[in-house]
Amino acid sequence: MQNFNREKSSKKGLQIQTIEEAQQWSKFVISPVTIAHKSRAQKEKSEDGKKNKSATNTSSKFKHAGIRIEFFEQITKKILHDFYKKKCPHCENQILDKEISTRPDLIRCRVCHYQTSRLAYTPLHQCKLPLWMFGYVFYESLIQHPKVLTSIEISKRLGISYKAALLLKRRFQVFASEQLDKYKQITFKLLEDEFRDFNLPPNENTNITKKMAKHSYICADTAVLYSASARANKGRKRFRHSGATASIYLSDKLGGKQIGTLVHTIAIKGGPVFFHSVPNQKANTLGPIIKEHLPIRTPLFTDQGYRWLWGIYRNHRSVNHNAKSKEGRYRWARNRWSKHGVHSQVAEGNQRLLKTSFGAYCYTTPEYSTLYLNEFAFLKNAKVIGLDALVQKEEEGSVRIGARLYLPQHIIQKFP
Ligand SMILES: [Zn+2]
Repeated sequence: MQNFNREKSSKKGLQIQTIEEAQQWSKFVISPVTIAHKSRAQKEKSEDGKKNKSATNTSSKFKHAGIRIEFFEQITKKILHDFYKKKCPHCENQILDKEISTRPDLIRCRVCHYQTSRLAYTPLHQCKLPLWMFGYVFYESLIQHPKVLTSIEISKRLGISYKAALLLKRRFQVFASEQLDKYKQITFKLLEDEFRDFNLPPNENTNITKKMAKHSYICADTAVLYSASARANKGRKRFRHSGATASIYLSDKLGGKQIGTLVHTIAIKGGPVFFHSVPNQKANTLGPIIKEHLPIRTPLFTDQGYRWLWGIYRNHRSVNHNAKSKEGRYRWARNRWSKHGVHSQVAEGNQRLLKTSFGAYCYTTPEYSTLYLNEFAFLKNAKVIGLDALVQKEEEGSVRIGARLYLPQHIIQKFP
Protein backbone atom coordinates (compact mmCIF):
# COMPACT_ATOMS: atom_id res chain seq x y z
CA MET A 1 0.00 0.00 0.00
CA GLN A 2 2.73 2.40 0.92
CA ASN A 3 4.69 1.61 -2.21
CA PHE A 4 1.64 2.16 -4.33
CA ASN A 5 1.07 5.56 -2.82
CA ARG A 6 4.62 6.54 -3.36
CA GLU A 7 4.47 5.55 -7.01
CA LYS A 8 1.28 7.47 -7.49
CA SER A 9 2.69 10.59 -5.99
CA SER A 10 5.86 10.37 -8.01
CA LYS A 11 3.79 9.99 -11.15
CA LYS A 12 1.99 13.20 -10.34
CA GLY A 13 5.35 14.82 -10.16
CA LEU A 14 5.50 15.77 -6.51
CA GLN A 15 7.95 18.57 -6.06
CA ILE A 16 10.34 18.70 -3.22
CA GLN A 17 9.70 21.94 -1.43
CA THR A 18 12.63 24.08 -0.48
CA ILE A 19 12.80 26.89 2.05
CA GLU A 20 12.57 30.00 -0.05
CA GLU A 21 15.38 31.93 1.47
CA ALA A 22 18.19 30.68 3.59
CA GLN A 23 16.82 32.25 6.78
CA GLN A 24 19.05 32.70 9.76
CA TRP A 25 18.26 30.94 13.02
CA SER A 26 18.44 34.27 14.81
CA LYS A 27 15.31 35.38 12.91
CA PHE A 28 13.38 32.58 14.62
CA VAL A 29 14.34 34.03 18.04
CA ILE A 30 15.73 30.72 19.27
CA SER A 31 19.38 31.43 18.65
CA PRO A 32 21.41 34.56 19.35
CA VAL A 33 23.12 36.29 16.46
CA THR A 34 26.37 34.42 15.84
CA ILE A 35 28.79 37.29 16.01
CA ALA A 36 27.72 39.51 18.86
CA HIS A 37 29.67 42.67 18.04
CA LYS A 38 28.55 42.53 14.42
CA SER A 39 24.87 42.42 15.35
CA ARG A 40 25.34 45.37 17.65
CA ALA A 41 26.86 47.30 14.79
CA GLN A 42 23.89 46.34 12.62
CA LYS A 43 21.47 47.47 15.28
CA GLU A 44 23.11 50.84 15.58
CA LYS A 45 22.98 51.18 11.84
CA SER A 46 19.29 50.34 11.75
CA GLU A 47 18.56 52.85 14.48
CA ASP A 48 20.30 55.50 12.43
CA GLY A 49 18.79 54.91 9.03
CA LYS A 50 15.89 52.57 9.91
CA LYS A 51 16.98 50.34 7.03
CA ASN A 52 16.61 47.05 8.88
CA LYS A 53 12.88 47.35 9.45
CA SER A 54 11.93 44.10 7.75
CA ALA A 55 14.34 42.09 9.90
CA THR A 56 12.79 43.28 13.18
CA ASN A 57 9.36 42.54 11.78
CA THR A 58 10.19 38.91 11.10
CA SER A 59 11.60 38.39 14.57
CA SER A 60 8.50 39.88 16.21
CA LYS A 61 6.39 37.65 13.98
CA PHE A 62 8.13 34.60 15.40
CA LYS A 63 8.29 35.89 18.99
CA HIS A 64 5.34 33.92 20.36
CA ALA A 65 5.45 31.18 17.77
CA GLY A 66 3.52 28.10 18.87
CA ILE A 67 1.33 30.03 21.33
CA ARG A 68 -2.29 30.36 20.25
CA ILE A 69 -2.79 33.85 21.55
CA GLU A 70 -6.54 34.04 20.73
CA PHE A 71 -7.15 30.80 22.63
CA PHE A 72 -5.40 32.05 25.76
CA GLU A 73 -7.14 35.41 25.50
CA GLN A 74 -10.45 33.51 25.47
CA ILE A 75 -9.40 31.73 28.65
CA THR A 76 -8.55 34.99 30.42
CA LYS A 77 -11.86 36.48 29.34
CA LYS A 78 -13.73 33.40 30.55
CA ILE A 79 -11.99 33.59 33.94
CA LEU A 80 -12.98 37.25 34.26
CA HIS A 81 -16.52 36.53 33.11
CA ASP A 82 -17.07 33.48 35.32
CA PHE A 83 -15.38 34.57 38.52
CA TYR A 84 -15.34 38.37 38.41
CA LYS A 85 -18.68 39.37 36.95
CA LYS A 86 -19.53 43.04 37.09
CA LYS A 87 -22.98 44.56 37.41
CA CYS A 88 -24.23 47.77 35.90
CA PRO A 89 -24.83 50.41 38.60
CA HIS A 90 -27.64 52.00 36.56
CA CYS A 91 -29.63 49.02 35.29
CA GLU A 92 -31.03 46.40 37.66
CA ASN A 93 -29.36 42.97 37.58
CA GLN A 94 -27.73 43.73 34.25
CA ILE A 95 -24.36 42.00 33.99
CA LEU A 96 -21.81 43.88 31.94
CA ASP A 97 -20.96 41.66 28.98
CA LYS A 98 -20.54 43.85 25.91
CA GLU A 99 -17.01 43.89 24.61
CA ILE A 100 -15.13 46.55 22.72
CA SER A 101 -12.95 45.02 20.05
CA THR A 102 -10.21 47.61 20.32
CA ARG A 103 -10.13 47.79 24.13
CA PRO A 104 -9.94 44.32 25.69
CA ASP A 105 -9.53 45.87 29.15
CA LEU A 106 -12.99 47.49 29.06
CA ILE A 107 -16.52 46.12 29.39
CA ARG A 108 -19.86 47.80 28.71
CA CYS A 109 -23.50 47.49 29.62
CA ARG A 110 -25.57 46.36 26.64
CA VAL A 111 -28.55 48.48 27.72
CA CYS A 112 -27.21 51.87 28.78
CA HIS A 113 -23.64 51.51 27.44
CA TYR A 114 -22.13 52.21 30.85
CA GLN A 115 -18.45 51.53 30.48
CA THR A 116 -15.96 50.35 33.10
CA SER A 117 -12.65 48.61 33.50
CA ARG A 118 -12.68 44.85 33.02
CA LEU A 119 -9.68 44.31 35.26
CA ALA A 120 -10.25 46.64 38.20
CA TYR A 121 -10.70 44.84 41.53
CA THR A 122 -9.81 41.45 40.07
CA PRO A 123 -6.44 39.68 40.37
CA LEU A 124 -5.58 41.47 37.11
CA HIS A 125 -6.00 44.93 38.65
CA GLN A 126 -3.93 47.42 36.63
CA CYS A 127 -2.24 44.65 34.68
CA LYS A 128 -0.19 46.13 31.88
CA LEU A 129 0.68 42.85 30.19
CA PRO A 130 -1.42 41.50 27.31
CA LEU A 131 -4.53 39.73 28.60
CA TRP A 132 -3.68 36.37 27.06
CA MET A 133 -0.58 35.97 29.22
CA PHE A 134 -2.66 35.32 32.34
CA GLY A 135 -4.66 32.70 30.44
CA TYR A 136 -1.40 31.12 29.36
CA VAL A 137 -0.10 30.85 32.94
CA PHE A 138 -3.46 29.46 34.09
CA TYR A 139 -3.65 26.87 31.30
CA GLU A 140 -0.03 25.74 31.50
CA SER A 141 -0.08 25.47 35.29
CA LEU A 142 -3.22 23.37 35.09
CA ILE A 143 -2.09 20.89 32.44
CA GLN A 144 1.46 20.62 33.75
CA HIS A 145 0.38 19.89 37.32
CA PRO A 146 1.99 18.37 39.44
CA LYS A 147 5.02 19.90 37.73
CA VAL A 148 5.09 23.55 38.77
CA LEU A 149 5.46 26.51 36.42
CA THR A 150 8.28 28.72 37.69
CA SER A 151 8.66 32.44 37.03
CA ILE A 152 11.78 31.80 34.97
CA GLU A 153 9.85 29.46 32.70
CA ILE A 154 7.12 32.07 32.28
CA SER A 155 9.63 34.80 31.54
CA LYS A 156 11.42 32.73 28.92
CA ARG A 157 8.32 31.43 27.21
CA LEU A 158 6.49 34.76 27.07
CA GLY A 159 9.55 36.85 26.38
CA ILE A 160 8.98 39.15 29.36
CA SER A 161 11.36 40.13 32.13
CA TYR A 162 11.77 37.97 35.22
CA LYS A 163 10.19 40.64 37.39
CA ALA A 164 7.13 40.86 35.16
CA ALA A 165 6.85 37.07 35.13
CA LEU A 166 7.06 36.92 38.93
CA LEU A 167 4.32 39.52 39.28
CA LEU A 168 2.19 37.61 36.77
CA LYS A 169 2.70 34.46 38.84
CA ARG A 170 1.71 36.36 42.00
CA ARG A 171 -1.50 37.42 40.26
CA PHE A 172 -2.21 33.80 39.44
CA GLN A 173 -1.45 32.78 43.02
CA VAL A 174 -3.85 35.39 44.35
CA PHE A 175 -6.52 34.08 41.99
CA ALA A 176 -5.80 30.50 43.09
CA SER A 177 -5.97 31.43 46.79
CA GLU A 178 -9.30 33.10 46.28
CA GLN A 179 -10.75 30.11 44.43
CA LEU A 180 -9.30 27.62 46.91
CA ASP A 181 -11.65 29.03 49.53
CA LYS A 182 -14.58 27.82 47.43
CA TYR A 183 -13.09 24.34 47.19
CA LYS A 184 -12.84 24.38 50.97
CA GLN A 185 -16.55 25.19 51.28
CA ILE A 186 -17.53 22.57 48.69
CA THR A 187 -15.48 19.89 50.47
CA PHE A 188 -16.85 20.84 53.89
CA LYS A 189 -20.41 20.56 52.59
CA LEU A 190 -19.77 17.16 50.96
CA LEU A 191 -18.15 15.76 54.11
CA GLU A 192 -20.95 17.07 56.26
CA ASP A 193 -23.51 15.29 54.10
CA GLU A 194 -21.52 12.07 54.00
CA PHE A 195 -20.73 11.77 57.71
CA ARG A 196 -23.80 13.29 59.30
CA ASP A 197 -24.61 10.23 61.48
CA PHE A 198 -21.36 8.40 61.13
CA ASN A 199 -19.68 6.54 63.98
CA LEU A 200 -16.58 4.42 64.08
CA PRO A 201 -16.62 1.53 66.57
CA PRO A 202 -15.74 2.99 69.98
CA ASN A 203 -13.12 0.31 70.64
CA GLU A 204 -9.96 1.59 68.96
CA ASN A 205 -8.62 -1.93 68.47
CA THR A 206 -11.31 -3.05 66.03
CA ASN A 207 -10.44 -3.30 62.37
CA ILE A 208 -12.20 -0.54 60.46
CA THR A 209 -11.12 -1.49 56.93
CA LYS A 210 -14.59 -2.74 55.99
CA LYS A 211 -16.36 0.14 57.64
CA MET A 212 -14.27 2.70 55.75
CA ALA A 213 -14.22 0.86 52.41
CA LYS A 214 -17.14 2.79 50.94
CA HIS A 215 -16.34 6.13 52.58
CA SER A 216 -13.95 8.99 51.93
CA TYR A 217 -10.63 8.39 53.67
CA ILE A 218 -9.30 11.58 55.27
CA CYS A 219 -5.76 11.96 56.58
CA ALA A 220 -3.84 14.80 58.19
CA ASP A 221 -0.11 15.13 58.69
CA THR A 222 2.67 17.70 58.91
CA ALA A 223 5.97 17.76 57.03
CA VAL A 224 8.93 20.06 56.62
CA LEU A 225 9.19 21.52 53.13
CA TYR A 226 12.35 23.63 53.34
CA SER A 227 14.55 23.28 56.37
CA ALA A 228 17.38 25.27 57.88
CA SER A 229 20.50 23.34 56.99
CA ALA A 230 23.47 22.85 59.28
CA ARG A 231 25.28 25.28 56.99
CA ALA A 232 22.60 27.96 57.44
CA ASN A 233 23.00 27.43 61.18
CA LYS A 234 26.77 27.76 60.80
CA GLY A 235 27.30 24.28 62.17
CA ARG A 236 25.24 24.78 65.32
CA LYS A 237 22.91 22.19 66.70
CA ARG A 238 19.28 22.95 67.53
CA PHE A 239 17.98 23.06 71.06
CA ARG A 240 15.04 25.44 71.19
CA HIS A 241 12.33 23.45 69.47
CA SER A 242 11.70 19.76 69.34
CA GLY A 243 10.92 17.39 66.49
CA ALA A 244 10.28 18.56 62.95
CA THR A 245 9.62 22.11 64.15
CA ALA A 246 13.27 22.52 65.12
CA SER A 247 14.54 22.25 61.58
CA ILE A 248 12.69 25.28 60.23
CA TYR A 249 14.20 27.76 62.70
CA LEU A 250 17.68 29.17 62.78
CA SER A 251 19.70 28.69 65.94
CA ASP A 252 18.94 31.18 68.72
CA LYS A 253 22.42 32.66 68.46
CA LEU A 254 21.71 33.51 64.82
CA GLY A 255 18.45 35.24 65.67
CA GLY A 256 16.14 32.21 65.82
CA LYS A 257 14.20 33.36 62.77
CA GLN A 258 12.00 30.96 60.85
CA ILE A 259 13.54 30.28 57.45
CA GLY A 260 12.06 26.88 56.62
CA THR A 261 8.47 25.93 55.91
CA LEU A 262 6.33 23.52 57.89
CA VAL A 263 3.37 22.24 55.92
CA HIS A 264 0.16 20.89 57.36
CA THR A 265 -1.74 18.64 54.98
CA ILE A 266 -5.38 17.62 54.98
CA ALA A 267 -5.97 15.13 52.20
CA ILE A 268 -8.91 13.03 51.05
CA LYS A 269 -8.16 9.82 49.19
CA GLY A 270 -8.61 10.41 45.47
CA GLY A 271 -10.01 13.83 46.30
CA PRO A 272 -9.12 17.37 47.25
CA VAL A 273 -6.13 18.38 49.35
CA PHE A 274 -5.40 21.44 51.48
CA PHE A 275 -1.97 22.69 52.50
CA HIS A 276 -1.18 25.21 55.20
CA SER A 277 2.07 26.81 56.17
CA VAL A 278 2.27 26.64 59.97
CA PRO A 279 4.84 27.96 62.46
CA ASN A 280 4.63 24.93 64.77
CA GLN A 281 2.66 21.75 65.45
CA LYS A 282 0.80 22.89 68.54
CA ALA A 283 -2.90 22.27 69.06
CA ASN A 284 -3.62 26.00 68.98
CA THR A 285 -2.07 26.26 65.52
CA LEU A 286 -3.45 23.13 63.88
CA GLY A 287 -6.78 22.97 65.69
CA PRO A 288 -8.44 25.93 63.95
CA ILE A 289 -7.26 24.68 60.54
CA ILE A 290 -8.79 21.25 61.06
CA LYS A 291 -11.97 22.74 62.48
CA GLU A 292 -12.30 24.97 59.43
CA HIS A 293 -11.91 22.15 56.91
CA LEU A 294 -13.51 19.10 58.49
CA PRO A 295 -16.95 18.75 60.09
CA ILE A 296 -16.90 17.41 63.64
CA ARG A 297 -18.11 13.90 62.72
CA THR A 298 -15.48 13.31 60.01
CA PRO A 299 -13.33 10.21 60.51
CA LEU A 300 -9.80 11.56 60.58
CA PHE A 301 -6.66 9.45 60.44
CA THR A 302 -3.32 10.77 61.58
CA ASP A 303 -0.07 9.77 63.22
CA GLN A 304 0.46 10.23 66.95
CA GLY A 305 1.02 13.97 66.79
CA TYR A 306 -2.67 14.78 67.21
CA ARG A 307 -3.48 13.51 70.70
CA TRP A 308 -5.30 16.76 71.49
CA LEU A 309 -8.01 15.82 68.95
CA TRP A 310 -9.18 13.14 71.38
CA GLY A 311 -12.62 13.93 72.74
CA ILE A 312 -13.30 16.58 70.10
CA TYR A 313 -13.29 14.59 66.88
CA ARG A 314 -14.76 11.34 68.11
CA ASN A 315 -14.02 9.57 64.82
CA HIS A 316 -10.33 10.40 65.00
CA ARG A 317 -7.93 7.45 64.96
CA SER A 318 -4.17 7.49 64.94
CA VAL A 319 -1.43 5.03 64.07
CA ASN A 320 1.75 4.77 66.11
CA HIS A 321 4.74 5.22 63.80
CA ASN A 322 7.10 4.36 66.66
CA ALA A 323 5.47 1.03 67.57
CA LYS A 324 8.17 -1.36 68.77
CA SER A 325 8.19 -4.99 67.74
CA LYS A 326 7.25 -7.54 70.36
CA GLU A 327 9.82 -9.93 68.99
CA GLY A 328 13.44 -9.40 69.95
CA ARG A 329 14.65 -9.94 66.40
CA TYR A 330 13.16 -6.71 65.10
CA ARG A 331 13.28 -3.18 66.33
CA TRP A 332 10.03 -1.88 64.83
CA ALA A 333 6.61 -3.43 64.66
CA ARG A 334 5.37 -4.54 61.26
CA ASN A 335 2.15 -2.61 61.59
CA ARG A 336 3.65 0.72 62.56
CA TRP A 337 2.48 2.40 59.32
CA SER A 338 -0.95 0.85 59.07
CA LYS A 339 -2.84 -0.86 61.88
CA HIS A 340 -6.46 -2.06 61.85
CA GLY A 341 -7.06 -0.08 58.66
CA VAL A 342 -5.76 3.18 60.15
CA HIS A 343 -2.98 4.93 58.26
CA SER A 344 -1.97 8.41 57.14
CA GLN A 345 -0.66 7.47 53.72
CA VAL A 346 -3.03 9.75 51.82
CA ALA A 347 -1.46 12.81 53.45
CA GLU A 348 2.04 11.36 53.18
CA GLY A 349 1.54 10.69 49.47
CA ASN A 350 0.44 14.25 48.81
CA GLN A 351 3.40 15.56 50.76
CA ARG A 352 5.76 13.41 48.70
CA LEU A 353 4.23 14.94 45.57
CA LEU A 354 4.55 18.44 47.03
CA LYS A 355 8.20 17.99 47.96
CA THR A 356 9.11 16.57 44.56
CA SER A 357 7.33 19.36 42.71
CA PHE A 358 8.61 22.18 44.91
CA GLY A 359 12.16 21.12 44.14
CA ALA A 360 11.77 23.25 40.99
CA TYR A 361 11.36 26.39 43.09
CA CYS A 362 14.59 25.62 45.02
CA TYR A 363 13.44 27.79 47.94
CA THR A 364 10.55 29.98 48.97
CA THR A 365 10.56 32.23 52.02
CA PRO A 366 8.04 31.29 54.74
CA GLU A 367 6.18 34.58 54.13
CA TYR A 368 5.35 33.58 50.57
CA SER A 369 4.92 29.86 51.24
CA THR A 370 1.14 30.19 51.67
CA LEU A 371 0.80 31.64 48.17
CA TYR A 372 2.77 28.78 46.65
CA LEU A 373 0.92 26.13 48.67
CA ASN A 374 -2.46 27.64 47.79
CA GLU A 375 -1.54 27.58 44.12
CA PHE A 376 -0.51 23.93 44.31
CA ALA A 377 -3.62 22.89 46.24
CA PHE A 378 -5.87 24.84 43.87
CA LEU A 379 -4.40 23.09 40.83
CA LYS A 380 -4.77 19.66 42.42
CA ASN A 381 -8.38 20.38 43.45
CA ALA A 382 -9.17 21.78 40.02
CA LYS A 383 -8.12 18.41 38.61
CA VAL A 384 -10.24 16.46 41.10
CA ILE A 385 -13.35 18.62 41.58
CA GLY A 386 -13.20 20.59 38.34
CA LEU A 387 -13.59 24.25 37.50
CA ASP A 388 -17.32 24.10 36.74
CA ALA A 389 -18.04 23.45 40.41
CA LEU A 390 -16.43 26.82 41.15
CA VAL A 391 -18.63 28.59 38.62
CA GLN A 392 -21.72 27.03 40.22
CA LYS A 393 -20.49 28.12 43.63
CA GLU A 394 -19.99 31.65 42.30
CA GLU A 395 -23.52 31.71 40.90
CA GLU A 396 -24.98 30.60 44.22
CA GLY A 397 -23.50 33.62 45.91
CA SER A 398 -24.35 37.14 44.88
CA VAL A 399 -22.44 38.78 42.09
CA ARG A 400 -19.97 41.22 43.52
CA ILE A 401 -20.46 44.87 42.76
CA GLY A 402 -18.21 46.74 45.13
CA ALA A 403 -14.49 46.60 45.54
CA ARG A 404 -13.09 43.48 47.10
CA LEU A 405 -9.51 43.37 46.03
CA TYR A 406 -7.14 40.69 47.18
CA LEU A 407 -3.47 41.52 47.15
CA PRO A 408 -0.56 39.21 47.85
CA GLN A 409 -0.06 41.21 51.05
CA HIS A 410 -3.36 39.85 52.35
CA ILE A 411 -2.21 36.28 51.99
CA ILE A 412 1.40 36.64 53.04
CA GLN A 413 1.73 35.22 56.52
CA LYS A 414 3.59 36.96 59.27
CA PHE A 415 5.65 34.55 61.30
CA PRO A 416 6.98 35.42 64.75
ZN1 LIG B 1 -26.68 49.66 32.26
